Amino acid sequence: MTGPGASSPTADACTSCGRDDEPLHAVHRIYVTPEAWDTPGRADVQDEVEHWCFACRTQYPHEDA
Ligand SMILES: [Zn+2]
Repeated sequence: MTGPGASSPTADACTSCGRDDEPLHAVHRIYVTPEAWDTPGRADVQDEVEHWCFACRTQYPHEDA
């Protein structure tokens, strides 16, 4: 079965938004936790490689894979 939301071993759609008409770039997603009154801010870089389109790379924190 294939279709939107199906996991695929090949990167042909953006991992973040799912669009498949943009060039993709391998990245590691970074989960940013904003600073709070009792905790300092932090950024957790994920080990998993994702493939993002340009729009997502401009909007969301990441680093090159
Ligand atoms: Zn995207």
